[in-house]
Amino acid sequence: MMSTQDGLTRNNADRNHSVQSELRKLPSVDRLLNDPDLQALSARYGHSLVVSAAQEALAGARVAVTAGQPCPDQATLSATILAVVDRTSRPSLCPVINATGVIIHTNLGRSPLSQAAQDAMRQTSAYSNLEYDLLAGERGSRYVHAEALLCRLTGADAALVVNNDAAAILLVLMALAQGREVVISRGQLVEIGGGFRIPEVLAQSGARLVEVGTTNRTYLRDYETALGPESAMLLHVHSSNFRLTGFVHETPLAEVVTLAHAHNILAVDDLGSGALLDTAQFGLSHEPTVQESLATGADLVCVSGDKLLGGPQAGLILGNTKLIGVLKRHPLTRALRVSKSVLAGLQATLLHYLKDEALREVPVWQMMALQPAQVGVRAGALVSWLKARGIRAELVDGTSAVGGGTLPGETLRTSLVAIQADSADSISEKLRLGSAPVLGRIEDDRLVLDLRTVLPSEEEVLRKALQGALLGESSAGCDVN
Ligand SMILES: *Cc1c(COP(=O)(O)O)cnc(C)c1O
Repeated sequence: MMSTQDGLTRNNADRNHSVQSELRKLPSVDRLLNDPDLQALSARYGHSLVVSAAQEALAGARVAVTAGQPCPDQATLSATILAVVDRTSRPSLCPVINATGVIIHTNLGRSPLSQAAQDAMRQTSAYSNLEYDLLAGERGSRYVHAEALLCRLTGADAALVVNNDAAAILLVLMALAQGREVVISRGQLVEIGGGFRIPEVLAQSGARLVEVGTTNRTYLRDYETALGPESAMLLHVHSSNFRLTGFVHETPLAEVVTLAHAHNILAVDDLGSGALLDTAQFGLSHEPTVQESLATGADLVCVSGDKLLGGPQAGLILGNTKLIGVLKRHPLTRALRVSKSVLAGLQATLLHYLKDEALREVPVWQMMALQPAQVGVRAGALVSWLKARGIRAELVDGTSAVGGGTLPGETLRTSLVAIQADSADSISEKLRLGSAPVLGRIEDDRLVLDLRTVLPSEEEVLRKALQGALLGESSAGCDVN
């Protein structure tokens, strides 16, 4: 009589035997690539990409067969190879339509650039006079392309552009406070996002942090008692991405500046958001502007290029000529330098402010300036268009946000397009995965689209994407030419 144990062993042996024989049926890469379709694919995408896709497809098949599945036929393997080649040969970074209503959306690349800024970046992407003085006919400096404009717009005596605001702070601390003390309020020892924490950057720079006050209240006398012979700087950090309310006292920048100067040390203001215009004109709170911070007497002001400034990713350091000179000569500056495209985009953005056309031309300001009724007209037209195609949609009141770690908790009234579908999640996934990806929000089990953050020039593409996702004509993957 056979024991249960023997039976199991035999079953296992049978299974191993059939797995082995199925595995042997898998073709070699060479044989697989004899398929005329794959030969054509090879001619179009290059042999090595198709070979690696074939290896990937065969490895996947081997795993499936080992798990007990039958060996896939040639057609199935070819289809897998085609899908792998298609997926890997597309750029993974591609344009998306932002219908979330969050204007400065960090996950979607922060500020959308003006048409002029985009053109400038493209036009200078071949050769440019980046470091060549055309007038003098000799070597020039890349920094001249933004410095004069920044000074004219903000009243700063000098300016330097680096990779981002985090880099700006790191450079300022390293060049001007290394080995010495930097005094900061406990209420300003913040995390900006993406793991950028003021105390950690400070530690990296080699400066010593001296915390003063408490989380909610810091007085001038707290700063005063902390000052000593080792002090190099008072650092003021704008609480751009959170609000403390209730029993709160923050020492105003003006007092911090006066105290620093009375002790012959530096007052540096990390503003972050970097507004050049007043946000209060749109019913939002007033974000301190770069001009105000400089006028208050801060020796250096650090801001982001791609938040309220509405330009490309950059860190702008503005202020005292002698200090900016020290920063320019510091070896770290070379490691943090910006590219020609960034300088071209930044210059074009700054020119909008110079010509007093920023509200009209810089998308972040354009979007903030939109009245709910103006969004409503466009949203209403989209609702009618959807209804005419048998899609249940309606206009609802809602809110947009400035985002990008600026003006936390504050909103702008808007008109939303709410789309009714059996599953809001599934529609939103289809829109995400379409050839022109669209990002909306889900509210009350409905997909809602906020046209405040959709440029009028994108509406045609948005309608096509909606048609694809809601009426079943769809294509996968991002499709940039
Ligand atoms: C956003 C922000 C930063 C970081 O700016 P990046 O340009 O993203 O590096 C630093 N400080 C403050 C106060 C900020 O708001």
